[in-house]
Amino acid sequence: MIRENLAQIKESIPKDVTLVAVSKTKPNADIMEAYETGHRIFGENRVQELTEKHEALPKDIKWHMIGHLQSNKVKYIAPFVSLIHGVHKFKLLKEINKQAKKVDRSIDVLIQFHIAQEDSKFGFDFEEAKTMLESDQFVELENINVRGVMGMATFTNNKEQIEDEFRTLNNYFQVFKSNFFKFNEGFNIISMGMSGDYEIAIEEGSNMIRVGSKIFGERK
Ligand SMILES: *Cc1c(COP(=O)(O)O)cnc(C)c1O
Repeated sequence: MIRENLAQIKESIPKDVTLVAVSKTKPNADIMEAYETGHRIFGENRVQELTEKHEALPKDIKWHMIGHLQSNKVKYIAPFVSLIHGVHKFKLLKEINKQAKKVDRSIDVLIQFHIAQEDSKFGFDFEEAKTMLESDQFVELENINVRGVMGMATFTNNKEQIEDEFRTLNNYFQVFKSNFFKFNEGFNIISMGMSGDYEIAIEEGSNMIRVGSKIFGERK
């Protein structure tokens, strides 16, 4: 069914929305089934699983780290990771910069915002992110590219609440774009929306969705 699920989702979303196929916990054979349809962007949330899959699978896959990333594990993914979605504090950003420099790369990252009414989710609030972007220390980081923002809505059936949270993230994106990245065309990603809420996210301006179970089936 993976092939069919993928095709159906791709047909139903606008062309300018990037689909990250979230393959966490799923075997390599499932990823290859998606790969063989031409899909190349996959998301994982654990460093060890990500590095093992990267080693075993075709090298033209673009791997996105979408989960909570600990600073001490950045070094394992720095040589190959394509986009890190979950930058939730400055210390982590500094470590990504340091490890990127070691392998002579510039790594793309998203700033994660805490938009949900759930403590279990990580991320900056607006003021914290603003303070970081204004700091001299931030400007000195030469081996990272901040490409945009990422967030997760509350796990709820309340559609209005989800809309509000995604709208908030979109607003943050617009404000940061005009205040800090006006002349940086690369700052252009709003990563929001998962299997249960990506349609709402797209209505609220998402241009990158992270979909797992709707492609690969429920996880255990
Ligand atoms: C697991 C995960 C997803 C995908 O979740 P589904 O509900 O299976 O689509 C998206 N984003 C993040 C950060 C995740 O951890």
